[in-house]
Amino acid sequence: MFNIFVSFLSRIFGFYLKDVVTVEDRRKFIVISLAISLPATLLFSMLNLFVFGYPQLGIAEGVCASLLLPVFVLPRYDEWVSFSERLILIYGILITVALAVFGGLEGSGILWVFTFPFLAFLLKGQRSGWLYCFVWIAVMSAALRLAFLVPHSHFYSAAYSGQISVAMLFYSTIAAAFNLVRSRFEAKLHERVQANTAKAREYLDKLEFLALHDQTTGLPNRVSLLQDLSSAIEVCDTQRQSIVVINLRLERIFEISNILGQKSADSLIKGIANSLLGSAAEKGHLSRARRDEFSYFYKLDHREITADMVRKAIGDFQLTYHFEGYPVHIEHTVGVAIFPDHSLEAEDLLRKAGQAMLQASASRTDLAIFDNKLGQLFIKRHLLYGQLREALDNKELCLYFQAQVDMRTGGIIGAEALVRWKNADGIFIPPDEFIPVAEGSGLIKPLTAWVLREAFSQMVKWRSQGLEITVSINLSARNMIDPELIADLQKLLVEFAIPADSVMLEITESAFADLPEVVMDTIDQLHKIGFKLSIDDFGTGYSSLSYLKNLKVNEIKVDQSFVRCLHTESGSFAIVKSTIQLAHNLGLKVVAEGIESAGLENSLRAMACDIGQGYAYSRPLPADQFFTLACNDTPHFLSVETIPENDITVG
Ligand code: C2E
Ligand code: MG
Ligand code: MG
Repeated sequence: MFNIFVSFLSRIFGFYLKDVVTVEDRRKFIVISLAISLPATLLFSMLNLFVFGYPQLGIAEGVCASLLLPVFVLPRYDEWVSFSERLILIYGILITVALAVFGGLEGSGILWVFTFPFLAFLLKGQRSGWLYCFVWIAVMSAALRLAFLVPHSHFYSAAYSGQISVAMLFYSTIAAAFNLVRSRFEAKLHERVQANTAKAREYLDKLEFLALHDQTTGLPNRVSLLQDLSSAIEVCDTQRQSIVVINLRLERIFEISNILGQKSADSLIKGIANSLLGSAAEKGHLSRARRDEFSYFYKLDHREITADMVRKAIGDFQLTYHFEGYPVHIEHTVGVAIFPDHSLEAEDLLRKAGQAMLQASASRTDLAIFDNKLGQLFIKRHLLYGQLREALDNKELCLYFQAQVDMRTGGIIGAEALVRWKNADGIFIPPDEFIPVAEGSGLIKPLTAWVLREAFSQMVKWRSQGLEITVSINLSARNMIDPELIADLQKLLVEFAIPADSVMLEITESAFADLPEVVMDTIDQLHKIGFKLSIDDFGTGYSSLSYLKNLKVNEIKVDQSFVRCLHTESGSFAIVKSTIQLAHNLGLKVVAEGIESAGLENSLRAMACDIGQGYAYSRPLPADQFFTLACNDTPHFLSVETIPENDITVG
């Protein structure tokens, strides 16, 4: 019981209470006190002077009120807040003394006296509040006892003054208790607000981190990268520095993820991120822009940048990792864009670094610096892609046929089907422009499907008219790795009832570069079905000759670049001659394409080349014109004097 009492007392007196009032709160309390005290004091000063008949009190009140005037200004400055509070409390003590002494019992002034402790605790808190209350009680008690000295004072009884002193102590205790409850409530509220704010801050920090960082590596993400790059651009712009922006794509990361599983793939990516951070020589910003892409930028004090400098700066990325004892090598392609050479904007620079990366992929190098011309080409290709898509739907494509002539007899024994695209404006777009676009996208599949169907149906027509020749159809590298190719071709054979050996499928030599095993396997299957197979553009694919002996192909087409230079370059002559010999030794036929003159034809015939194709015989022709040409019985031998007029212009 005693303990509870002591605890109550100590709390009332504020020994344990920690005030949580901020300077702002104190300013507010000062304003509240001022807003109540000043008008009230002035009002009563006037009333006492002119209405109630207490002139001394009215004057005293006026003097006290003047003490409050500096409080209008001082609390604006933190260091004067405390002084302002003191000033208000001094005013409080003085005004209560004046009320008691000059107002006395007759007026209602004495009733207002007891508001002082509330003011003291409000402004000074629990401990200092008591201090002011004690000073106030002492001053008031002394004033009440000396009041009789003041003329017209209304206090006559010492006993009565004693009672008032007790009442002052009582009201001080009430005010302290009241303030205790208020402060405790505020403290609790403050604590709760603090806790909630801390929690909210934590969540916000987490959200902000998630929004700006990649979860797997903890690196900044694309959003954050854009912000950082924009700020870097602002700084570099004023300091005349350059920024090198690098886009790095990890190759085959999806395949590797599939093999390793998600968890291992994630730690692989983490490892790569650390390695990138470690091997980048210049201090820059690394971020993970996409699942398989990292972006990195750094500043330079000069404005001339070469590929070698970039290579040096990014170091030799060591992207070989060991997983459960097995080495996993990650290839990468790097695209570079430079501020201010290529763009002044962050988003644009990143886009151009991405484009440079695609340029590097397309030219099969590991690093490319953005090239404006290539950039234009890139855009053109992109536009072409959209138009080609529509062309396929709008039937803007058609098939031309170019004669293939037996060089011994001069008779047309075959035709190569070559796709032509006449766009909506009636302009022919060369295959060399749109075939790479189709090959670089998924469009090559529907395009090849269309060519095959068209060529097969043309063969059916010709066969019904008595023209039975082999038709060569070009297949792209991507067609050769399409798992549905075999089934699609088999369906066509059944649908059109065409013997497979009247179709020659041409595969460019470069198709073996990427996935030679898959391409060879497809060739095997096509051979088993009965198709004839040809290696197109032979000599340009840089592939090893050893693969030739295992390939189930029927012919080799010597690339026209060698044929064209047969008479002018001894190297080309040697290549053509030895290719013909090699092919014959392997039991393969040889087609020379690009024969444009009788001289070339004679030389090739002398080298025992089997088949000729070129403008000298015929340009690629629409199906009906080809039919007329093929039905003409004249042997297509050429002599220097009789080069046919090529009056049919294509493209
Ligand atoms: P390619 O398969 O090597 O076709 C031969 C190209 O050489 C054809 O060009 C043909 O018009 C051209 N040519 C033939 N004789 C001569 C000549 O004497 N002089 C000159 N300067 N050129 C000659 P075209 O039709 O422009 O086709 C270019 C390439 O586009 C083709 O080369 C082929 O790789 C590709 N292509 C054409 N049609 C198709 C197709 O339907 N599918 C696929 N995948 N590729 C095709
Ligand atoms: Mg061809
Ligand atoms: Mg060719």
